[in-house]
Amino acid sequence: MSDCLFCRIVAGEIPATVVYETEDVLAFRDINPKAEVHVLVIPKEHYADIGALAEGDGTLAAAVLAGVAAVARSEGVADTGFRTIFNTGPDSGMEVPHAHAHVLGGNFLGAMVSS
Ligand code: AMP
Ligand code: ZN
Repeated sequence: MSDCLFCRIVAGEIPATVVYETEDVLAFRDINPKAEVHVLVIPKEHYADIGALAEGDGTLAAAVLAGVAAVARSEGVADTGFRTIFNTGPDSGMEVPHAHAHVLGGNFLGAMVSS
């Protein structure tokens, strides 16, 4: 999708700090980090959200999860702990409608959601 921000990062049209890449999955640093470690893990193919990805290509969804685990290890948070967030739809505040996992860690993350 040419008008999708993350598809444009996959295409190399918008720069990103890539920390992990396979044939099917890309991970790069969030431009507005909410923790010491804040990486986004995405399928290179466009799916609107994690549900569409899981229903459309379960193997690719598993590859994204493997990317989350690999990024947690390479970023040094696998043992100290980290949080994985898949926002979906308006109530989540989702801004970019291309399936992505946020991997957050490197400091204590506090409450799961703010009330
Ligand atoms: P979400 O709200 O779950 O859709 O998350 C979208 C994330 O993309 C936000 O945390 C943004 O800070 C991040 N973001 C937006 N533009 C870029 C960009 N050009 N490079 C890296 N991260 C970005
Ligand atoms: Zn996209």
